[in-house]
Amino acid sequence: MIDTVKIIETNLAEVRMKIGSNAEASGRTAADVKLVAVCKYFGSDVTAAVVAAGCGEIGENRPQALWSKALELSSLDVRFHQIGHLQRNKVRRTIGCIDMLHAGDSLRLLNSISAESVKQGIVTQILIQVNISGDQNKQGFKPNEVESVLENVAVMPNIDIQGMMTMAGLQSDPSKTQREFAELRELRESLFSRCPDNVSLRHLSMGMTRDYELAVREGATIVRIGTGLFAGIPRV
Ligand SMILES: *Cc1c(COP(=O)(O)O)cnc(C)c1O
Repeated sequence: MIDTVKIIETNLAEVRMKIGSNAEASGRTAADVKLVAVCKYFGSDVTAAVVAAGCGEIGENRPQALWSKALELSSLDVRFHQIGHLQRNKVRRTIGCIDMLHAGDSLRLLNSISAESVKQGIVTQILIQVNISGDQNKQGFKPNEVESVLENVAVMPNIDIQGMMTMAGLQSDPSKTQREFAELRELRESLFSRCPDNVSLRHLSMGMTRDYELAVREGATIVRIGTGLFAGIPRV
């Protein structure tokens, strides 16, 4: 029988080491970068093994899977991140289960999260998703829309905009990928001084298995890593 926890521990250690060396290359430390383990390819058993291996930040793409894992793993020290698109009809059930939504991708969604958060008496932490690469298939606001999004957000109660999230384009040229991550960092710097009270922009969620080292170099404070943590674990 394979020891799932041990394999994930080994993979986690390697990823954390690379996060650390790239953080240092950008004048920071490993502690400045939060690792979200994306467990969307696996069920609750493997997800529980990730928590046992030492990572309590779990990313999910599909809200239904997140709801059931939140129930099944409720006794563990775990925080869930909804990293994929959230339909408005799933807002009510999702916001109470998550630490953060990474995919704030429309004003209608932000408005409905605000209204539902008021009803439930909670404050929901959200990242604005930005489509830096301009890829037609990607969700998110255009970079030049973000300033007006923040103006709109200023009057929405019970939401806390903690930063921005992006996915790099699928290009094979790493210098282009790095440029896209740098653009999100520069966008944040240009908006910092104009943030309303419920917007802090402290986080940049960028980088997945194929490009997290570049993302950390360019200032990522959160990386979302799936595949790289599960080498050696069979997908059922
Ligand atoms: C699946 C996914 C990831 C993780 O991708 P890997 O290549 O498995 O590391 C990160 N971010 C989002 C938005 C995803 O959907």
